Amino acid sequence: MPLWGGVEAGGTKFVCAVGTGPDDVRDEVRFPTTTPDETLRRTIDYFERYELDAVGIASFGPVDPESSSATFGYITTTPKPGWANTDFAGYVRQALRVPIGFDTDVNAAALGEHRWGAAQGLDTFIYLTIGTGIGGGGIVNGRLMHGLIHPEMGHIRVRRDPARDPFQGSCPFHGDCLEGLAAGPAVEARWGASTETLPPSHPAWELEAEYLALALSDLVCVLSPQRIVMGGGVMEQRHLFPQIRRRTAELLNGYIQSPSILSSIDGYIVPPGLGNRSGLLGAFALAENAS
Ligand code: ZN
Repeated sequence: MPLWGGVEAGGTKFVCAVGTGPDDVRDEVRFPTTTPDETLRRTIDYFERYELDAVGIASFGPVDPESSSATFGYITTTPKPGWANTDFAGYVRQALRVPIGFDTDVNAAALGEHRWGAAQGLDTFIYLTIGTGIGGGGIVNGRLMHGLIHPEMGHIRVRRDPARDPFQGSCPFHGDCLEGLAAGPAVEARWGASTETLPPSHPAWELEAEYLALALSDLVCVLSPQRIVMGGGVMEQRHLFPQIRRRTAELLNGYIQSPSILSSIDGYIVPPGLGNRSGLLGAFALAENAS
């Protein structure tokens, strides 16, 4: 049976694992993201101990995920010091001499959910993560979404009522885009308390559900997803789900004539089937696809 290596490469930590799927993660290690040299060296040191058939990399970005591109597998323009123009996939391929699958962390998470989680059998769906940032990826007509670069669903504009929400947003590029209004750090900056400490009755959550529902209603209209999977640290507040479902249906106002929205929205906007493991397991799925 083939053996995969998976890397979930985040801006603050790397998680590397070896296995074949959710029921067979044979080993796992995590370490902080420091310089590219040091962090990639540790990644190679870890994987060299195994006979791997392929490695999948789920990377923070922006990245170049297009396999026909000259800079495929690069982290491109990240503001993270030292990491811009890093040939991530090439470094790992040269060191380990195995096929490399490479994509954004959110596309990888979408692929993991498709392979083993809450999006099995679907050919068009999206995966959103709401955490320290907001990102989205997914599959359209059976293929992971790429394009000009890759989707940046966290930076869509949502309507903000300044009378209801005077907070001007925390995105350094856009101010009050979705991430600037609804990522964990934005919630904390607005209310002076973290999402883990705000009680479910706090008005923060109604506003959070409003912004996320605005985003979802836009994404439903643009992409016609068969399901929306929502993960990330903020979505661990499970009481958000019923509020988001209700408000998304209200905003769409019966216009999208699908029973998924009209009568079974509880199964339409869902948490990840793989919990907080979608990205790492998605890296295994990237490896599988690359082999
Ligand atoms: Zn933005």
